[in-house]
Order: sequence, then C-alpha cells, then structure tokens
Amino acid sequence: MINNFTYKDIISNIFHTIIYTIILVFTMIILVTGYFIGHKTLLPMFYNNMINIVINESKKVSQHLVNFNNHLHQENDNQEKEHLSEEFELLKKEFSLENIKYYDKNGKTLYSTDTSEINKNNIHEHFNNEVTKKKIHYDFFQEEFSYLNTKKNSKNIAEIYIPIIEKGQFNGAIEVFYDITEHRENFFKIINKIENAYVFISIIFLNLVFITLYYQSISNLEKKKQDKEIKSLNKNLTKKVKIRTQELEDKNKELERLAHYDFLTGIYSRSFFFGLASKYLNTVKRHNLPFHVISLDLDNFKKINDTYGHAVGDKVLVEFTKIVSSYMRKSDLFGRIGGEEFIICIQNNQLDGVKILTEKIRSEFESKKIIINNNQISATVSIGIAQLKSNDTLEELIEKSDKALYKAKEQGRNQVVVF
Ligand code: GH3
Ligand code: MG
Ligand code: MG
Repeated sequence: MINNFTYKDIISNIFHTIIYTIILVFTMIILVTGYFIGHKTLLPMFYNNMINIVINESKKVSQHLVNFNNHLHQENDNQEKEHLSEEFELLKKEFSLENIKYYDKNGKTLYSTDTSEINKNNIHEHFNNEVTKKKIHYDFFQEEFSYLNTKKNSKNIAEIYIPIIEKGQFNGAIEVFYDITEHRENFFKIINKIENAYVFISIIFLNLVFITLYYQSISNLEKKKQDKEIKSLNKNLTKKVKIRTQELEDKNKELERLAHYDFLTGIYSRSFFFGLASKYLNTVKRHNLPFHVISLDLDNFKKINDTYGHAVGDKVLVEFTKIVSSYMRKSDLFGRIGGEEFIICIQNNQLDGVKILTEKIRSEFESKKIIINNNQISATVSIGIAQLKSNDTLEELIEKSDKALYKAKEQGRNQVVVF
C-alpha cells in the first residue's frame, strides 16, 4: 500500500537507485576504458615503438652493407659474391633477422639470405611508390609455418625497406625481415594482465551492486512480511473486537431480557410490567379510554407443586401463560408479578367484553388437559376485574382487582369476579 510508504522510504529508494546506477556506469566505464587502453592505445603504441626499433636496426644493417659493398668492388666477382653471402649470414645472426634482401635501383634482387629469391624482381607497388622515392617502407604480417612438419604455427614479421642513397640519388634498397613474435606475445601478456585486472575490478563492483541489491530486496521482503503480519494482526484484532462487541451486545440483550421478561414464562416481569402499566394508564386517562386491570391467581397451586413436584408446577405455569397470551392483543399488557400471580391491563374494551375474555381464559385453562410424565394435570384459575374510574391510580386499580380476586377465591375459586 502506497500509504504505508514514508518520505524516508521513498528518499532511501531513490538514493539506492542512484548509487546502483553510479556503480553500474562506473563499471561500464572501467570495462570500456580497459578495452580501449588495451586495444586502441597500447597496441598502436607497441607497433610504433616496434617500428622505431626495427627501423633503427635496419638502418644499421643497411649502413653496414653499403660500407661493405663499397669495399667489395675492389675484389673479383666470385670472391665478391662469397664475401657478400658470408656478410649477409653474419648480419642475419647478429641482428636476429629472418631474412635480408638487397635490391638494385630497378628492384632486382642482387642478394637474399633466402637464395631462391636472388635475381627476382620486386613487383610490389610500395617499392615503386615509396622506396624508389627514398622513403622508408614498413609492414607487419603473419607468416604460417610448420613446426616439425606437424604443428601449424605462425610468426609475426616486421618488414622494412631502407633505400640506399648515394650522392643524393636512389641506388637500391635493403629489405629486412624481423621476427617480432616473441615481443608481440610478451606485449599481449601484459595487455592480458591489465585486462584481467580491469575485469577483476569490474566483478568486484558488480558484486557490490548485487550484494547491496540483495540486502535491499531482503529488507524490502522483511518489510512486506512485517506489513502482512501487522495487517493480519489488525484483521484478527478487528475480528476479535467484532466478536467481543457482538458478545457484549448479546449479553446486554440477555440482561435486558432478564430484566424485562420473566425467565420462566417469557412474559413481562414484575418491575417492567409496572413501569409499562403506569405509562399506559397515563395515556389512557388523557384520551379518556376504557381501561381494565385483571388479577389472576392459580388455584391451590401449592397442592400441584406438592403432588407432582416443582418442575411440573413450572410447566403448568408455562401452559397457563400460553393460553392467556393467545387471547392478548397488541394493546394489552400481560405480566407475572408473583409466583403464580399475574396481571393483565386491557384498553379500549367495555366491561362485558373483558368479562367474556376472562371467562374464556378461565374455562380454557380449566378444560386444558396438561399431560406431564404420564400424569394428567388439571388446574384452575381465579380472576378479579377492576374497571378504571376517573382518578384511580395503578395501585388503587390493582388493589380493587385483587379484592375481586379474593372474592373469587372466597366463593370457591375457578371463577371471574368484577369489583
Ligand atoms: P390459592 O388457591 O389460595 O391461591 O392456593 P395456593 O396454593 O395457590 O396459594 P399459595 O399462595 O399458598 O401458594 C402459592 C404457591 O405457588 C407456593 C409456591 O410454592 C408456588 N410457587 C410460587 N412460585 C412458583 C414457581 O415459580 N414455580 C412453581 N412450581 N411454584 C411456585
Ligand atoms: Mg398466590
Ligand atoms: Mg394461588
């Protein structure tokens, strides 16, 4: 969730990204410069250096031969050739050369340490274009050769033409072949070492990036995990709070039910009934409506308890309230105010109607066959009715209905008496 990120997190993320980028760019620079230094700078430097050396060496060889040639002209032809060949072989050894050729000004090979080349003409363009114009020409090339007739190998050769100039005029050239394989190999060994060092440094840098990335991702994962844990804890907590709230609500409802309703019969309890009844009476008085209070008391209930037990007595009480409740309208109040004593408040009904209603209750209860544990139990109820007279209070009305009830008991029970 974006909301969970703080400015600190965002800044730290940006900071990390910048660091990675810098390290990566730096690594790339190291690798590229490594390559360039190796191949684009050091290699040409090597060849330039090589050329300077071989040109200087070649000049020495050439000078030597020119001096020698001047000295030769005084001898006869055969002697001259013999001495020349000896001198060439000597120079070849002394300067560690592959081959030496000696051209006249027309490019004809006067002498070569490779004797098969003697008398051949130099047909290369650079001979005419450069060497005859008194310019030094050089070139590098690879030469394939077989070693002990089995292993193919190659040599790196530097080839240099030094023009021979006499009295300012071009008068032939010396061509010298140097084997630079060993120099070249040594050079590449150094280059390889440099490149390896660069690769090594780059790998260290890349490792640094990956290690930092690894720890960063681990810390991110840890954070996500913690977030998840906190979320699930919150979820659990919310769930628990919800459950507890529901439990509390249920308990409150239960308490309310216990306070307002009688636990055995489920009708209004004594205190709640009186509260409702007095409010009810006030309204009824204001609207000048007919209002009756009825007291009900089960007859000889003690005897039922004694005969069948308290539990059976309870069931009889429940059966009685069921019958009464079936006659109650929404506007009627029915409450249990004592052990087997009940009160009903009836509104908007004339006395005759109330009498008929109570008579129905009485007779239905009397005729009801209550069967409990294979015992058929018969019970009756005595009922007293009081009619509201102008200024009666609830207490006065109940007193009146109780008096009527007392009368009913006196007259032999199981009957309805009007005060
Ligand atoms: P009467 O006809 O004069 O009213 O006689 P009675 O036996 O009904 O009157 P009494 O007041 O002597 O007895 C009432 C009995 O009701 C006593 C008590 O054991 C019983 N009782 C009160 N509350 C309960 C209750 O919740 N359950 C049961 N089973 N009996 C109760
Ligand atoms: Mg009683
Ligand atoms: Mg009784």
